[in-house]
Amino acid sequence: MLITDLNPSEGIGASGWMVEMDDFRILMDAGINPKLIGHASLPLFDKVKDEHVDAIAITHCHHDHVGSLPVALKHFPQANVMMTELSYFIVERVLHNSVNVMHRQREEIGVKEYPFFSHRELDEMAHLFQGYRYNREIEWTNPGKNRKGKQSPTLEFFDAGHALGSAGIMLRSSHETLFYSGDVCFQDQTILKGARFDDVSADVLILETTRGEREVAEGQNRETEIERLTHDILEVIEQNGCVLIPTFALGRTQEILALLSLMTQKGQLKEQPIFIGGMGRVFTEIYDQESHRAHRNHTNLQLHEALNLTVLDYKKLEKIRLKGGRLFVMTAGMMNENTAAHELALRLAGQEQHAIFFVGYADPSTPAGRLRAAEPGKPFLFSASGGELTRNCRMEEYDLTAHANRDELLSFVGKVDPKIVILGHGEPASKEWFAEQIRSKYPNTEVRTTKPGNPLEC
Ligand SMILES: [Zn+2]
Ligand SMILES: [Zn+2]
Repeated sequence: MLITDLNPSEGIGASGWMVEMDDFRILMDAGINPKLIGHASLPLFDKVKDEHVDAIAITHCHHDHVGSLPVALKHFPQANVMMTELSYFIVERVLHNSVNVMHRQREEIGVKEYPFFSHRELDEMAHLFQGYRYNREIEWTNPGKNRKGKQSPTLEFFDAGHALGSAGIMLRSSHETLFYSGDVCFQDQTILKGARFDDVSADVLILETTRGEREVAEGQNRETEIERLTHDILEVIEQNGCVLIPTFALGRTQEILALLSLMTQKGQLKEQPIFIGGMGRVFTEIYDQESHRAHRNHTNLQLHEALNLTVLDYKKLEKIRLKGGRLFVMTAGMMNENTAAHELALRLAGQEQHAIFFVGYADPSTPAGRLRAAEPGKPFLFSASGGELTRNCRMEEYDLTAHANRDELLSFVGKVDPKIVILGHGEPASKEWFAEQIRSKYPNTEVRTTKPGNPLEC
């Protein structure tokens, strides 16, 4: 088989893997790099644009995996677009929201190539999207569309436990197999249960390496982190401070809302409005609607019933009074400009009684990253529009990741027992850690590194 990594970035970047098996081709993921703008944020579709692509398969609906799907479809209009049933319920909302963001960026910072696709184009291609259940083997091509007498390879989605609808992908041809982990979480989160990758074995494994640099501190686990967060939220609220938790709209928001629901049920948190972002609200509805279809805990927990959720538009923020223990679970984990998370941080950071709690990754080059790095009491440049900021409020970080720990991934490699591992979705130092560990622990497994756009023969 031939594997081409289309992600131009050395780090997590924009996911996109072209795989050729038995003369058939599939593109796995079509992401955008959220740190970049314009063409630079796209996978290297130009390198493969003249090839016939039979299928596009999406692991999950985060932007770094699905953000350029309509662009890929313009290159490969004949491709079958495959995703899990749960992703199918989410995907159009994510992409229509991207159109809005691109329009705004075109106006505000003059990115001429935006939008890459319009609402109308998206509506016109939506009928191509197909949702499938986990653990069903599906052919890449429509039945009967086999080429040169050859049978199409197949695909199977495995539940990855990372966000609603997330999957790892198994590819099988007549004589070889490949497994792509996508983004994976092996441990149960508050809502979603951990990945079901138990029976996975394959010749080639493409592995995410997000947390290769991160050693889990002794005695620290999800339960202790949740206890700490619970305790800290209550402490700030008791002292009439506000709490801002910046999060991503899909996955993390619902996990935090579930935690707040459980705190309310236990009587720890008194009933009060919880302010969330518009997209966070949309995905919360879908989590609720699909609660019995998803592999999850608390299947009867309906977040919108358990909590008094109030959507907060950033333009209406000025009217909100920041006192009396208000809780904000706001979309935009990186606190990008023109988001409610950004505006709230500007208003809260200076005052001691408030708190900003981080529950996920924030890139150092973003406002959230700079805020996390800032020393209390010392002014720093928060953002171009926000200017300088001095943090006097409380700030904490909690490790509530939706990604597998590096040791869990390493033992997964042992279970899959592949001939070849290809390292993806991680910073160079993370990949290096995995390469070294795999070479010393599993000497029969070959570690291959990819060069963006260069096909790798496996
Ligand atoms: Zn993800
Ligand atoms: Zn990702």
